[in-house]
Amino acid sequence: MGRLAMTVPDAATTPVAATAPEPVTELLNRSHRLGRDPRNTNYAGGNTSTKGQATDPVTGGQVELMWVKGSGGDLGTLTDKGLAVLRLDRLRALVAVYPGEQREDEMVAAFDFCLHGKGAAAPSIDTAMHGLVKADHVDHLHPDAGIAFATAADGEALTKACFGERVVWVPWRRPGFQLGLDIAEVAAGHPDAIGVVLGGHGITAWGNTSDECEARSLEIIHTAQAYIDANGRPDPFGALVGAYDPLPDQERHARAAALFPVLRGLASTDARQIGHYDDRGPVLDFLARERHPALADKGTSCPDHFLRTKVKPMVLDLAPDVPLQQAVGRLRELHEVYRSEYRAYYERYATPGSPPMRGADPAIVLVPGIGMFSFGKDKQTARVAAEFYVNAINVMRGAEAISVYEPIPEPEKFRIEYWELEEQKLRRLPPPKPLATRVAFVTGAGSGIGAATARRLAADGACVVCADLDEGNAKSVASGIGGPDTAAAVRADVSREDDVAAALQAAVLAFGGVDLVVNNAGMSISKSLLDTTVGDWDRQHAVMARGSFLVSREAARVMVPQAMGGDIIYIVSKNAIFAGPNNVAYGATKADQAHQVRLLAAELGEHGIRVNGVNPDGVVRGSGIFASGWGAQRAAVYGVPEEKLGEYYASRTLLKREVLPEHVANAVFVLASRELSHTTGLLVPVDAGVAAAFLR
Ligand SMILES: [Zn+2]
Repeated sequence: MGRLAMTVPDAATTPVAATAPEPVTELLNRSHRLGRDPRNTNYAGGNTSTKGQATDPVTGGQVELMWVKGSGGDLGTLTDKGLAVLRLDRLRALVAVYPGEQREDEMVAAFDFCLHGKGAAAPSIDTAMHGLVKADHVDHLHPDAGIAFATAADGEALTKACFGERVVWVPWRRPGFQLGLDIAEVAAGHPDAIGVVLGGHGITAWGNTSDECEARSLEIIHTAQAYIDANGRPDPFGALVGAYDPLPDQERHARAAALFPVLRGLASTDARQIGHYDDRGPVLDFLARERHPALADKGTSCPDHFLRTKVKPMVLDLAPDVPLQQAVGRLRELHEVYRSEYRAYYERYATPGSPPMRGADPAIVLVPGIGMFSFGKDKQTARVAAEFYVNAINVMRGAEAISVYEPIPEPEKFRIEYWELEEQKLRRLPPPKPLATRVAFVTGAGSGIGAATARRLAADGACVVCADLDEGNAKSVASGIGGPDTAAAVRADVSREDDVAAALQAAVLAFGGVDLVVNNAGMSISKSLLDTTVGDWDRQHAVMARGSFLVSREAARVMVPQAMGGDIIYIVSKNAIFAGPNNVAYGATKADQAHQVRLLAAELGEHGIRVNGVNPDGVVRGSGIFASGWGAQRAAVYGVPEEKLGEYYASRTLLKREVLPEHVANAVFVLASRELSHTTGLLVPVDAGVAAAFLR
């Protein structure tokens, strides 16, 4: 009893990591150093571990534990919460009950019975490899240079030639308990070895100290790369094909922006996708060379890769400067071929127990001279797919330099892609947010209603492009929403045709297309008819009537070829309906916008594009318009102090409520949501009730 009282509070009130020995801190630091360089391991790929003693809170005695990177997460940003903590004696005892390779997947569930305490990450499939190898520190990585050896046709002989007995070849086997046993056996049988090359997969290294393990991982990677550099052919991808030379930057980006909505539409045939565009040097070089079609057709290799990239990319076989319509026509043909080949691949290997086909569209599309387009259920997934294909290009370059690139056989690829354990992970994901996979473009997003709308759409899952005349404001709203995977900022004067075109092009290059446009940018001058100058009139109409026309036209130029429908939502005004004094220019241009809603709803319906609007009134708080003098002018018209304007507007309404930017943003969300999928040409008042502005 006394012993319990002495030990339990200590261990129970402190997180495991804090009571953990020094090796855990070392493990995290080592993981960060290794994971930060994408040449050492692909994003979220690989795992690291350490073993050590800790106090068992049940007995007060010492217990041998293993801390290992759990399922998901990335080495470069690993924290103690990303570690699974297991009892080593129990983990190793699993060898006695292991039912054999045919049932090795069952062992993942058995890992749960080896956990030490709760709250840590779920153990990954690679846990056995780390636990069964009898070294205190183990790294399993997916380095480009290591996978080049792992996917070389004569990888075993090359490993011997490069490393002698220091690094041992382990033939391809799907990750799992048996692979862990294989590696442990190699390690035990080769006391001088520092690690292994895992055929078709990556590398594993071990050491008695964390520093030794890290040094050995890097030794394998650097030695492999040095061997490739010293012995490899200079042009493993073949000669440059002149016709596939990259277009100059500006033309390349313009062509990418023209193709991207079409490609996104095609890639979204089975499920809506967000896109990512990548035209870095190694991608353009690969696509400029004669062997890229044959190599791309062999598919990606590392098990982590094709879960994200699909077995192989779709490759356009035309020069980048052919007429756009010719390229689009050919992409449509290739997409049909891709889909039928993917279906045939699924049917070739699927068994009655296989998960259903997840969609037959490509995740990676390669366009010589232009770059790589990748797709995923959100921006991060699309971006990581591109990262992985860059890894694949590096792997192919290395493997082809010293040998022939030969990834794992197709049936094995299928087993990985449709692995029941992966399917279970997908099923555990939370349901997507209502606006997931939608790209929103909001004008005047730097303040007031525009900023509130951008935040609301992002909170409901949309990728948001914040456009504003004031780039600083647009950037601060975008960075407040999140990183580049969720929001982008762009400067645009909506009254300028070239600005609007450039802003929409930036949106397309950021996320693959546009689905939801909010025409919110506005400005206002309150003047009587006799005081309104031609300049006043023109400025108001340039920003609102003309600006929303330009944005809608440019958006339709993206949405129509994208063929995924879309929403255009106008932030109009009560003043489109209500006639008051000293408001001729503003009221008239708002009426123009209100009729644009109806005109465009009539015209764009056949493309599945809905056009609706919101009629707010009296939104004072956070409003750029009110801050810029309009508030003072309106207050003077109504004979109230400016700071009482919100209250004054509220007092005039039927509901006696002040209208805030968030209320307008809510209406935009509802109009864009699935719930109003059959509504177009509608203007929704968000004015707390103004009878004189009722629509009829
Ligand atoms: Zn791996």
